[in-house]
This record gives sequence, C-alpha cells and structure tokens, in this order.
Amino acid sequence: MSGSSQQTTRLTSRFVDDLPELTVPWQAAEPPEPRLLVLNDSLAAELGFDPEILRGPDGSGSEAGLGLLTGTAPPTGAQPVAQAYVGHQFGTLNPRLGDGRALLLGEVQGPDGEPHDIHLKGSGRTPFARGGDGFAAVGPMLREYLVSEAMHALGIPTTRALSVVATGARVHRERVLPGAVLARVARSHVRVGSFQFAQLSGDEALLRRLADHAIDHLHPQAREDSEPHLGLFERVVSVQADLVAQWMLVGFVHGVMNTDNMTISGETIDYGPCAFMDAFDPSTVYSSIDTGGRYAFANQPLIAEWNLARFAEALLPLLGEDEESAVGAAQEALGRFRTQYSAAWTAGMRHKLGLGETVSQKAAADVMDALPTMLQKHEVDYTSFFRGLADAEAQPRDAAAGPNAGVVAEMLTDVPDFAAWLESWRGLEPETELMRRCNPIYIPRNHLVEEALDAGEAGDMEPFTRLLEAVTDPYTERPGLERYALPAPESFGPYRTFCGT
Ligand code: AMP
Ligand code: MG
Repeated sequence: MSGSSQQTTRLTSRFVDDLPELTVPWQAAEPPEPRLLVLNDSLAAELGFDPEILRGPDGSGSEAGLGLLTGTAPPTGAQPVAQAYVGHQFGTLNPRLGDGRALLLGEVQGPDGEPHDIHLKGSGRTPFARGGDGFAAVGPMLREYLVSEAMHALGIPTTRALSVVATGARVHRERVLPGAVLARVARSHVRVGSFQFAQLSGDEALLRRLADHAIDHLHPQAREDSEPHLGLFERVVSVQADLVAQWMLVGFVHGVMNTDNMTISGETIDYGPCAFMDAFDPSTVYSSIDTGGRYAFANQPLIAEWNLARFAEALLPLLGEDEESAVGAAQEALGRFRTQYSAAWTAGMRHKLGLGETVSQKAAADVMDALPTMLQKHEVDYTSFFRGLADAEAQPRDAAAGPNAGVVAEMLTDVPDFAAWLESWRGLEPETELMRRCNPIYIPRNHLVEEALDAGEAGDMEPFTRLLEAVTDPYTERPGLERYALPAPESFGPYRTFCGT
C-alpha cells in the first residue's frame, strides 16, 4: 500500500535508537481485506492525524489510513520493530517472550508535548511468535479498545486505543474468528520484563542504557536524585502503588499481571482477560486460564509488589556499591509500596463515600472497614452500590431516584446490619456531589461488553458504539442509558474471560 504522504505526522524512533538490542526490525503482514471498524477521532487528532483522511470517503478507511493503522504503510520516520522482553508468567520465568504479534511503529508527539508510542497488536508473526500465529481476533481487540478507553475516562493511567481494523483474515482459535489489528498509544511500552531481558542478557551496559532511557523519558525527576537508578525504582513503586489502588477502587480485575504486562510508566497495559467486578467478592477471577486464582481481585496489590521485587532484582547491579547495599536500598524502597498503596486506596475510598477532610481517620476507617464484609455477604453489585448510595442520599424520600438507588433500598430490606451502617455513615455528613463525581454510573459491564463484541464480530458495530459512548463519559447520568447502569440480569450467569491469544 502507498499514500502515507497524505498524513504529515512524522514518527521518531527514539526507542530503536537508544536500545537496538531490544528490537528486531520487522514488517506488518499485509491484511487481505482491511476495513476500519472503529477509530478514536479525538485521539487521532490530538496526535496530529486527520480523522477524515484516515476514515476515507465511505468511513471504512482510506488506503493511506488503513496502511497506517495496520502498519503496512507507516508514516515517514517509522522504523517498525518487534520489542524483546522476557517475563514471569504466573510466577514462572519465561526467558523467551517479546512481541510475538505486535509491532512498535515509532513515537509521535502527544497533546502533552511528550512522545507517545504507536503500537500495533495482531500485525502478524514476528521472530518472537513461538507457536503463535501472530494474529488477533476482532472480539478481543474490540474489548481492549472499549475497556482501555473506559479506564482512561475514569481517570486511570492506561494505554489508549486508536483504532481497530478488521483484516479480512480468518483466525483459528477454538473456532474460526475474524482477524483484526488494534492500534494503541502509550507513553511507553517498556515493561518490567524489558528490564528482566537486560538482566538475563548479562549485559550491564545495556541494563544501564535501558534504565537511563526510562529515566529520561518517563521519570526525569529521578535524574535530580543522588542515586538516579534507585530514584527510578522508587518512582515505579510509587506509580504502580497508585495505579493498583485505582484498579481496586473501581473493581477492575486485570487478569494477567505477568511481569511483562507491568509498565515502567505506570500505565495499565495489555487488556486480555480483564473485567470489572459485578457482585463484590475479593476472590473474583474471570480468566479461564487463572485456575489457581493467582490474579484474583484481592491479590492484585500483592502481585504488583511481587512484580516490583522482580524489577528490583533486575536493577540490582545499578543500585549500590555492592550487592548487600543494593539489596538493602531496594528493600527499603519496596517497603514503601504498602504504605503508599494503603494511603492511595484510603484517600480514594473516602471520596467514594463522600467523606470530607473534617472526618477523622478513625471515623472514616470504621465505616470503610465494615463495608466489604457486608457487600460480599449479600453479593451486592460493587459499582451500583456507591452510585446508588449517593443517589439515594441526595433524594432520600425517593429511593427510586436514579437507576442505582434501588440497590440501597434493597439492601435496607435484605441486609439487617445495613440500617445501622447507614446511620453511622450519615453521621459523617457525606457529600453526595463529591460521590457523584468519583463513583461512575457507567462501566463496561461484562454482559454489555459481551453483547457489543458478539455483534461487532458479526458485523454490527452499533451496540459497541453505544456502549463506548456510555463508558467514555462515566460520571454523567444521561436519560436513555438506564440499561447501561444496571447490573447483569441473573440469566447472564457466571462470567469467564479468555486471553484471546
Ligand atoms: P499476552 O498474554 O498478550 O501478554 O502475550 C504473552 C506473549 O505471547 C507475548 O510474547 C505475545 O506476543 C505472545 N502472543 C500472544 N498471542 C500470540 C499470537 N497469536 N501469536 C504470536 N504471539 C502471541
Ligand atoms: Mg503482554
């Protein structure tokens, strides 16, 4: 394909230039019959691409647009590469991972003036493909698009989705599925697994260059520290503690927190078997392959800490004069994960419950601590509870106000302890407006996601578009969107997600 000249945006190749050892130059596979399924117009425009040109005359993608979004005709300056990394998968080190079906096209300047990676998933086999076919299917790529954009709208750091293009290829999984390429955007795709790759290579100069690259592009304040590499580690501990606290506050289950799926930037990455929790249950696992529950909802902070310990091990040669002092420094920095995580979670939960600055720590802790047991015991829908509490409280005489208020009315009749809890919480004079600003009404609920992906796979993008509209403005209640605010009907049954590999 040709015609990329219609886009004037240039890509840079800072990652390839800084770290050639972590890349293999590679070309995207030519899709047999590419067709644009969804384009993020505002993100495209922010990155300097013209959405009209990308869409083409009939909306299914111009030749130039499809060439860019599938990587077959990337913009000027692009040097497409597959990135090398390793990683602990379910606790076991896999020394051969890397982008088996993905490519980094290059970087483009984002709206914040910072460079952002343009990255493809499903663009064909690379030298890291091992047994895989290099492809991705429409359903899982639409899921990543939807959930990552919902997370962004919730204010949670994440990779963004630029587009999904159906390739026209048939992808063989348990059944034959339509193929797709996702284009995504991130501050960086450098992962804990990238550092583990450098660690395993035994090349300390490479490790140092990678750490310096991460400092320069992601955590430049660490450069001012007396020990910049320790400063880098501390900052990654800090951004990950904040990130996982935010996941926990919205009920997000990542599903596959392997070390190759944890970024140095603190962005959520790799939406595979992820899902938002329905009824509150700390042991929630959705992934069909997570049979031991390693990545269950409640384990996520512990796993993040475990992954950071692997990051520390990889960085060790850079952290001190000798091994003993390096280990000591790393342990001390890692020790701050729990404190920071707890502080971030507590601050977030106070907001969710509308508790202002004047409410004492002790009083806030009393109402917060009583909640999980109650929600779990009575299988209360996590998202509707908080929003319903705000709605019901704002209009106490009309418990039906807002589609979620019913959940609170129901709890009042069904849960004996709830009235007492409500009384203590009310005593703290909660601010319902604050609650409405930080408790989403629309999240990508599993039954709605499935409905949207099934339709999308069959060629009808309407349900996907409507759900996307709801979840990308998650805090503003709008008429006509009632069904997007409600929990799954009983008939939906227990939910399982698949990696989509
Ligand atoms: P993920 O579960 O998406 O994080 O992928 C784990 C590893 O498997 C990464 O190295 C991927 O590039 C690779 N991988 C996953 N699916 C495929 C596929 N269909 N073809 C080639 N490589 C794949
Ligand atoms: Mg991955």
